[in-house]
Amino acid sequence: MGKVGVALAAACAAAACVTAAVMVRRRMRRRRGWRKVVTLLEELEEGCATPVGRLRQVVDAMAVEMHAGLASEGGSKLKMLLTYVHNLPTGTEKGIYYALDLGGTNFRVLRVKLGGQRSTIIEHNVERQPIPQHLMTSTTEELFDFIATKLKDFVEREENVSEPSVEETRELGFTFSFPVKQNSSSTGTLLKWTKGFSIQDMVGRDVSQCLQEAMSRNGLNMRVAALVNDTVGTLALGHYHDQDTVASVIFGTGTNACYLERADAIIKCQGLLSTSGAMVVNMEWGNFWSSHLPRTSYDVDLDCESPNPNDQGFEKMISGMYLGDIVRRVVLRMSQESDVFGPVSSGLLVPFILRTPMIAAMHEDDSPNLMEVARILRDTLQIPDVPLNVRKLVVKVCDVVTRRAARLAAAGIVGLLKKIGWDRNGGTASSSKAKGGSQSKMRRTVVAVEGGLYTNYTMFREYLNEAMGEILGEDVAENVLIRVMDDGSGIGAALLAASHSASLAIDSI
Ligand code: ADP
Ligand code: MG
Repeated sequence: MGKVGVALAAACAAAACVTAAVMVRRRMRRRRGWRKVVTLLEELEEGCATPVGRLRQVVDAMAVEMHAGLASEGGSKLKMLLTYVHNLPTGTEKGIYYALDLGGTNFRVLRVKLGGQRSTIIEHNVERQPIPQHLMTSTTEELFDFIATKLKDFVEREENVSEPSVEETRELGFTFSFPVKQNSSSTGTLLKWTKGFSIQDMVGRDVSQCLQEAMSRNGLNMRVAALVNDTVGTLALGHYHDQDTVASVIFGTGTNACYLERADAIIKCQGLLSTSGAMVVNMEWGNFWSSHLPRTSYDVDLDCESPNPNDQGFEKMISGMYLGDIVRRVVLRMSQESDVFGPVSSGLLVPFILRTPMIAAMHEDDSPNLMEVARILRDTLQIPDVPLNVRKLVVKVCDVVTRRAARLAAAGIVGLLKKIGWDRNGGTASSSKAKGGSQSKMRRTVVAVEGGLYTNYTMFREYLNEAMGEILGEDVAENVLIRVMDDGSGIGAALLAASHSASLAIDSI
């Protein structure tokens, strides 16, 4: 070999050494990065842990807070709002009623035809529309004019194809799923916005009046006969179908619950209620807080950066509006602290870009190579070419966040049932049968549920049911039924409009 050959061989060897060194370094970095994300995942799992002992602490805390909220105004983070709904629909309601359901993401308009005599609801037509983002932070007039026009269009379309309302003035049940201080079953003022709405001139104003005025401005002859929270509408429909229904819970954009309470247990307004036997109480449980709730740094950051810090703490761990963003925060941190996702993508930095239906789709991706996970990471978060092991890691993050949410939700339900006497210490759910009998003979208790998170996210539903069994024990859990009420918040509002118009008619005789 000549000199040139030797030099060439040496150069090749040197190049090979450099390449090998680069590859080793890269492999080591990748391994370090992988170790880092695994550590972050383990920390997340630990921070979100919900062993049954902790869930029982949450159950007790919920029951205690309910008592405190009923004892005095401001006595708890649970507002335990009066609804002035003393009676739930009986099945004798008759006629055509409209409902307007303003939730967090969508609004729905409905027309419900009731046959009376405990007949099933003859028919109901519903139209769903997303609430345009800009209206969530605009003015009261803009929001309500938009709603009134859509309602008017719906009424005109409906009355074109079916018989017009016999009533001169149509009756409306208005479901308004934000905290309201009711003055009667059909009026009330907005206490605060939640779920990303922020129209400041509306706080403190009468919600029914705002809608009533918008309907007049837009030439729609309709009267708000009932103003209800979505939980109350759902309870009304649940009770209409099944008299063992004692409570209702919403798992949608937000989360909340209500139940029928004995009037004498509502200590904060004894005088007001002395003649009445019971009232539906809107818990506003999204604002529940307890030191037993497993909180992570991701929850703290989400809360700090939200428009309502220190508010709606339970909701921020549980509901559809937030679960996707918790997952995004975890993935962002993993991406910042390792290179397993490649360079930090700008998509990951956008709050709320990863929506809960997307984490459900990733979580429930059953394709062998997790193609749906790859698609969402690429198209939504702009993270291309994620290897399979990292895709699995993302699925695990979705699992941890959703499992915690569902298990805490279950603890909330059991806490509610405990307060109203499911545990046989008294209250509406503790029948004589339950008092005398064994646990398995305990009274059948139904909880009506509504909301897109519960109905569309199978894993959320399964984890919730599983946790109910763990907390209650399987034989007791058998007697607690969770029944989905599709469109319950809207149909229930129409039912309440019907029962309230009926009682008004009787009152005026
Ligand atoms: P609202 O709360 O506005 O009354 P819904 O009850 O329809 O509306 O709930 C909508 C919410 O449910 C969405 O904001 C979303 O968080 C959640 N959701 C809808 N579809 C799914 C899905 N496929 N998987 C998981 N969550 C979903
Ligand atoms: Mg809703």
